[in-house]
Amino acid sequence: MKYIEEYRNRDIIRSLAAQIKSEAGREYIFMEVCGGHTAAIHRFGIPSLLPPDIRLVSGPGCPVCVTSREYIDRVIACSGLKDVIVATFGDLLRIPGSDTSMEKKKAAGADIRVVLSALDALSLAAGNPEKKVLFPAIGFETTAPGTAVTIKEADRAGVDNFFILSAHKIMPPAMEILIKDGTRLDGFICPGHVAAVTGSKIFGFIPERYGLGCVVTGFEPTDLLQAIYMLVKQVNANKPENQIQYARAVTFSGNETAVNLMDEVFVTGDDYWRGFGIIPGSGLKLRPEYERFDAEKAMPVAVKTREDEKACICGEILRGLKTPDQCVLFGSRCRPDNPVGACMVSNEGACNTFFKYRSDV
Ligand code: SF4
Repeated sequence: MKYIEEYRNRDIIRSLAAQIKSEAGREYIFMEVCGGHTAAIHRFGIPSLLPPDIRLVSGPGCPVCVTSREYIDRVIACSGLKDVIVATFGDLLRIPGSDTSMEKKKAAGADIRVVLSALDALSLAAGNPEKKVLFPAIGFETTAPGTAVTIKEADRAGVDNFFILSAHKIMPPAMEILIKDGTRLDGFICPGHVAAVTGSKIFGFIPERYGLGCVVTGFEPTDLLQAIYMLVKQVNANKPENQIQYARAVTFSGNETAVNLMDEVFVTGDDYWRGFGIIPGSGLKLRPEYERFDAEKAMPVAVKTREDEKACICGEILRGLKTPDQCVLFGSRCRPDNPVGACMVSNEGACNTFFKYRSDV
């Protein structure tokens, strides 16, 4: 297939759904760990095309959702410092911190600007040498290379008023924790964008060590259905493998240039994930030679973080233990226009996508 219409062709979709139905013979639970997949699965109504015994659950794939409240509080505190511009992706604006959000701080006069890339934030720094520009660097292996390129460019150009607060994370350690914790799963729908950078090889340990299947897939309905079909076949044959469905974008080895850039700028360290706590080796921190770009050192602030709203079950949703409709606040106190928890903020958050696309809840 070549054109987007073909990937959304109704006849092909129906045919794939029929193949899954004829192959399925037991209960299956597959987890997606990519916010883009979460949104696509609900947007295209994939669950409604599957037999009821095939359940799709969302994992920790939305970068905004897994970012800690303490991190948001820290960015908000920095935005209150004199001569600081916060240059952020738009989807971070509305995440509730302990007392406020970046959106509310901006409305109250803080210099918080929306950028589309880390390089845009660097341009802002170059154009405002009298200010310090803070870029909240969040996201997985998909966005980390962009931050790495920007740090290298800031270094080359001698820009000394550009800083990042790194909450970049890598996906395999979180997937391993889910398995070790005994989350009931029959396979992973693996993230296509992450794998386009890293290659599918990073998921190889899952079938090898834990006997669970992995299929890296794309974001169209035919991609998702084909990946589910491949996973069902793996389970039925009791042959867990690490397969690529998304061959038009993903290879086994990945993008060597992007991976090398990440390695040059970042080193792995322990990091906090909402719903999980600290996951060893799951975060990307600046290497010592680039520490001068670290906002935590350049802009020390005291942060007092309060616990998340007690009734919010984001943590359990991110671990695949509950679905958004099991939260008592879903659709009442918590809605996209008034998010109580992080999972309702981003377009890739499970609660947000459930609210938008699931008419059955
Ligand atoms: Fe949290 Fe809102 Fe989702 Fe409930 S509906 S889990 S309060 S984000």
